[in-house]
Amino acid sequence: MKILFVYPRFARHAEAHPELRKWVPMNEYFGSPSLGLAMMAAVTPDGYELEYRDDRMASASGPTDAALVALSFFTPAATRAFELADAFRAQGKTVVAGGIFPTSMPDECLRYFDAVVVGEGETVWPQLLKDFKEGQLKRRYSSPLKTVDTLPPPNLSLYFNAEQAGFVPDDYPVQLSRGCPLACQACILPLSMQRSIREFSISHTVQQLRMLMKAGKRACLTEDTSWFPGQQSNHLKALFQAMLDEGLEASISYIGISMPQLLVASDELLTLARRAGVDMFYLVGGFDPVTTRAFTGQDDKALARAHKAIARALAFDIEPYTSFLLGNDSDDVATPDRMLQFAAESGIRKAEFAIFTPYPGTPAWERLNREERITSREWNRYNDANVVFSPARMSESELLDGYLYLWRQFYSDKRHYADLRQDERTIQF
Ligand code: SF4
Repeated sequence: MKILFVYPRFARHAEAHPELRKWVPMNEYFGSPSLGLAMMAAVTPDGYELEYRDDRMASASGPTDAALVALSFFTPAATRAFELADAFRAQGKTVVAGGIFPTSMPDECLRYFDAVVVGEGETVWPQLLKDFKEGQLKRRYSSPLKTVDTLPPPNLSLYFNAEQAGFVPDDYPVQLSRGCPLACQACILPLSMQRSIREFSISHTVQQLRMLMKAGKRACLTEDTSWFPGQQSNHLKALFQAMLDEGLEASISYIGISMPQLLVASDELLTLARRAGVDMFYLVGGFDPVTTRAFTGQDDKALARAHKAIARALAFDIEPYTSFLLGNDSDDVATPDRMLQFAAESGIRKAEFAIFTPYPGTPAWERLNREERITSREWNRYNDANVVFSPARMSESELLDGYLYLWRQFYSDKRHYADLRQDERTIQF
């Protein structure tokens, strides 16, 4: 039996606002598909034929001889995923959904799909396949994954084999852990991957890094949870040390971190990170107590801490590529200028700008729904580049204008970046 895995396409900043390509002298980051499908491929029992289609390369909805079609998607891709599900069902195929959006909105997905996997899928995927073969497919599958110790590495060859000229992801994510006990208002991770942190062993992570190195790929380490003080940062330290001890010269494009984490990370850990080859932070903003207050114009202490965080990254020779989120309830029409002033004074060279988006399943989604401030449920507009809610201290058009102004102004004196090396000028826009 054949299974077709499909990753639906979605629009990012520059596709939503083509003028950004004119204003921003950077290359648009091209990420790998989510690890979800590669993990399902890895836990698929022997005897199945697997095919993969990336809908970003070419429309994935063409004829297939697969009996079962599985889509994994997050919110920006949900509208397209529904179109694809309709197209495959019109071909008489059974279509199943998994990933972040199906986990947060399973009932909506069941209008388009034959079955939905809620949460991490590794424990239920083999059972789903068995049920399908026996004509007993259920509508909903869910079973919490207690430990990651028994998981195989993702089957990334599924993605590598789909690469072709002009369609090569900039990097592939390597997971250090799953889950997070916190509840940052705009983050979906605690829902999609549970609230308990489960770490992969160092050898598991090193094995994945080696696999990527062998294939000539770069790795990104996306989870900011790795920097939590105590057990997590000890684990991260052990990973960097293992990489150094084994002479593993993996190419790491970036590691995720937040300003509070950067402020408390030890000198030893930051030194080790740099020595292990980390030369760029993806400094996520807008979720934490430092960045949500620093640009309000009313919290000098938070602003000073934000300056200190950037200075710390620079002191350890790690580029603080910073993501600014505009549209928090404390933001007003003057916030973009305060952000730009901060970026210029602190020495940030690379930045991206995003509109606050209440993704389904996040605490922000619950709150804004309660407050009746959600203005759109067009999921393809949930991509950090459109306003889908009523902001507290500005109008929807002022928020959109502020976001575009940030992109234009920040890069207005950086036209010379167009001459930088390809990997130096790649950002997520
Ligand atoms: S943003 Fe990071 S720390 Fe906050 S809930 Fe998400 S994963 Fe946890």
